[in-house]
Amino acid sequence: MSNSLVDAAARMLEDIDRAGTRKRERTIYSPQSSVIRADTTFGEEAGEGTEVINLCANNYLGLADDPRLIEIARQALDTHGLGMASVRFICGTQDLHRALERRMAAYLGTEDCIVFASCFDANGGLFEPLLGAEDAVISDSLNHASIIDGIRLCRAQRFRYANNDMDDLERQLLAAKGCRYRLIATDGVFSMDGIIANLPRICELAEKHDAMVMVDDCHATGFMGGRGAGTPELLGVEGRVQILTGTFGKALGGASGGYVAGPAPIIELLRQRARPYLFSNAVAPAICAAALAAIDIAENAHEERRRLQDNARRFRAGMAAAGFTLVAGEHPIIPVMIGDAALAARVADDLLRQGVYVIAFSYPVVPEGKARIRTQMSAAHTREQIDTAIAAFTAVGRDHGLIA
Ligand SMILES: *Cc1c(COP(=O)(O)O)cnc(C)c1O
Repeated sequence: MSNSLVDAAARMLEDIDRAGTRKRERTIYSPQSSVIRADTTFGEEAGEGTEVINLCANNYLGLADDPRLIEIARQALDTHGLGMASVRFICGTQDLHRALERRMAAYLGTEDCIVFASCFDANGGLFEPLLGAEDAVISDSLNHASIIDGIRLCRAQRFRYANNDMDDLERQLLAAKGCRYRLIATDGVFSMDGIIANLPRICELAEKHDAMVMVDDCHATGFMGGRGAGTPELLGVEGRVQILTGTFGKALGGASGGYVAGPAPIIELLRQRARPYLFSNAVAPAICAAALAAIDIAENAHEERRRLQDNARRFRAGMAAAGFTLVAGEHPIIPVMIGDAALAARVADDLLRQGVYVIAFSYPVVPEGKARIRTQMSAAHTREQIDTAIAAFTAVGRDHGLIA
C-alpha cells in the first residue's frame, strides 16, 4: 500500500516518455548569456560543457551577466547581508525593498508597487484578496499558468475568452454584467507565441462595460515601449491599465522577484492579505539592489532595444526565407512551428549538436499537435550569431524534411 503512489508516479512517467514529452535539463557551466557552455547530453554532468549560441533565455536586454549589476549586487551583500530570514511584515523590509517598490511604481506610472518572491507568486496572490463570489474575472484563454492558478484560488465567477478575441471578450463582459466588480486579466505578451495583447481594444471594452484591466507584462517590461515600460507604453494606453504584474527574472536582470503595481489601496490591501507575500521570505537584498539598478539601465537602454529589434527582424526574415513556419509578429519571441512533439525534440537535439541551444516545447505547455521550438532573441546576440543560428536551422530543417 505505502508504495502504490510511488508505482503510480513511475507509470505516469512512462506515459510521458511514450508521448515523447519528457522535459530533461541540460547543465550549463557559464553565466547566462548569448553564448553559454552547456552539456550536449542530458542528465549526468559532463564537466565543462560545449560553447553554444543560446536562443532560449528571457535575457532580452542582455543584463543577466551585466558587470554593473553584478558589482552592485556584490556591494549590497556587504552593506545589507545575505538574506532577511523573515517575511516582509515581521522583520524583512529593508530600505532596498521599499526603494525597489517606489522605483518600479515610478517607472510604470502607478501609485505604488509590492514585490513578491516571483511573478508566479504575485499572480498567485493578487486575485483572492480583491475579489469575492459576487465578482467576475474575465480571463484570456492563453494566460500564463500563474494567472490561471491565481484565479482558481479566488471565489470570483470565471469567464474565459478566446485568445485576444475582442468580440468574445465583449460577450463575456456582457455575461458578467450582473456581477459587482469585473476584472479583465491578460498577458501583455503571450509567451508561447509572442503575440501582443490588443490592449487598446481591451481598455475600450473595459471602459464601456465598467471593468478594470490587469496586465501581466513579464515578456515586455524593460524592452517594449520607448522607455521599456511595457505594452501599455508601446500601445499608448498608459493610465488605462489599472494593475500591472511582472518579473525581475526576465529583461530586468534575470535574477528573481516579481511585483504587482497599481493603485495605492490595492497594493496596501495585498500587503495585508496576499498569502504568498505574508507567508514567504523577503527577496534577498542583493537581488533587490540589482533589480533597482536594472530599472535605471532599462529605462535608458535605447541602443539595446534597437539591437534587440534588429536581431528579431533579422532572424524572422532569415527563417521565413529558408521556408520555416513562424508565428508572425514583432516580438523577440519567435516560435518555429514543428507540430509533432517527438520530432520537435529531435530537431532541438540536432541543433544543439550544431552549436545552437534551443528547446522544444510540447504539451502541456502548448496545445497537443502544436509542438514548436521557441526561440528568443537578445540584445546581446551579434548579427553573426543570428546568421549562424539561421544556417544551423536550415541544415537541420532540411535533414528532417521540414523545409525543402
Ligand atoms: C515568466 C512569467 C511568469 C513567472 O514569472 P517568475 O518571476 O519567473 O515567477 C508569470 N507570467 C508570465 C506571463 C511569465 O512569462
